[in-house]
Amino acid sequence: MEEFCDVVVIGAGPSGSVAACKLLDAGFKVIILEKLEFPRFVIGESLLPKCNAILEDIGILDLIEKQNYMLKPGAIFIDENKNEELIDFRNNLGEEHNTSFQVKREEFDNTLLNAAKSKGADIRHKFEVVDYDNSTNTIFAIDENDKRYSFKARFVLDSSGYGRVLPKLMDLDIPSDLKLRNAILMRVTGEKRREEEKEGFIDIVIHDDNKAWLWGIPFSDGITSMGLVCEESYFTDTKLSKEDFLKKVISEHKYLKEKYKDAKQVAPVRIINGYSAAIKRMYGKGFALSGNATEFLDPVFSSGVTLALESSSKVASLIIKELNGETVDWQKDYEDYMMIGVNVFREFVYAWYSGKLRKIFYAKNKSKQIEKSIASILSGYVWDESNYFVKDTKRKIDALVSLIEE
Ligand code: FAD
Repeated sequence: MEEFCDVVVIGAGPSGSVAACKLLDAGFKVIILEKLEFPRFVIGESLLPKCNAILEDIGILDLIEKQNYMLKPGAIFIDENKNEELIDFRNNLGEEHNTSFQVKREEFDNTLLNAAKSKGADIRHKFEVVDYDNSTNTIFAIDENDKRYSFKARFVLDSSGYGRVLPKLMDLDIPSDLKLRNAILMRVTGEKRREEEKEGFIDIVIHDDNKAWLWGIPFSDGITSMGLVCEESYFTDTKLSKEDFLKKVISEHKYLKEKYKDAKQVAPVRIINGYSAAIKRMYGKGFALSGNATEFLDPVFSSGVTLALESSSKVASLIIKELNGETVDWQKDYEDYMMIGVNVFREFVYAWYSGKLRKIFYAKNKSKQIEKSIASILSGYVWDESNYFVKDTKRKIDALVSLIEE
């Protein structure tokens, strides 16, 4: 049987739910097809203040604020020589939203999806999208018994995250220009939280001259998400299991050894391989992609959900225009716009792995304006052209490093 609607959204992550909320507010009939039952685990637990601004714009920030999540005022970057850089989002260029939240995504994503549901979204769990006919804009999905369904839509939005449904089906995938990295992660309780972590700061700890870095994300219920990121070979060359590798790195690092000495593991150790991804284009006739189904860079600055929310909010506005009969310049108003922010984060990610950013972080003589500009970038305000780093990001980072080294 074929069903009809205005927009089929593939995936019920933050990207899919936020786009659905906007489309439903505009009066469109939306079907969300989600492969899994919720709540489900997904990584990406540390949000940026820009997320709050987007959630407020969509009218669901108050719902999130009621959830008792740990407030996130910023991040601390710690190296082996005990250099520490605390980025306090409240020390920004004046943006109104200057804190965010540390969230278990199984809870956060459920809350967003319920918001879409309360606005009238038709949500089908355990519906896996397996095919797409672009000529008729029909999506094909199977349920858990392999029964096949078809959904014909005026517009299809792929928000399938790591599933990358349309990139795979339409040959839109291209390799990321970032190296293949692994993330090995788990949840613990009972670790030693420093004062800043009790306030909600995420800690990013550098190991072995940044051959690996580890995050610690404190949740409000006393549980902490921790994990490490390294190049694939740094892990595989040890021939250790993921569990033993994580233990080894912690035991070799003075700060981490002390921090986790009384910690108890409360969730299985997981590994995520080669997660960076890129895309030939973000849209086509009758369809678009948002969130991680487009480009995913790297977790170090917790930018994933921010980019997911911004892209889905933007894409929803453009779908509304198109369905209302207006002409949309998808290249200029969607892809070019999104790439401004993505490219700022990309240069920060490169500068993180090349060591340049650490030089800036740990420089003692930074101006107050540079400190604020960095706080705003790491808060997710990567489209604000009045920020020093938003245009010519690479050149500006290089210029600053040269000044520091003089
Ligand atoms: P998702 O959250 O992945 O949601 C996509 C949904 O689509 C899923 O529910 C999935 O089940 C569904 N789906 C997939 N395939 C199909 C299909 N065929 N049919 C139907 N449904 C389907 N981001 C941050 O902001 N902060 C962080 O601290 C952070 N840490 C990270 C750490 C690591 C190690 C990694 C790898 C990433 C991290 N991220 C972080 C990024 C974050 O995980 C993503 O950016 C974010 O989840 C993207 O949201 P989304 O809605 O696009 O996709």
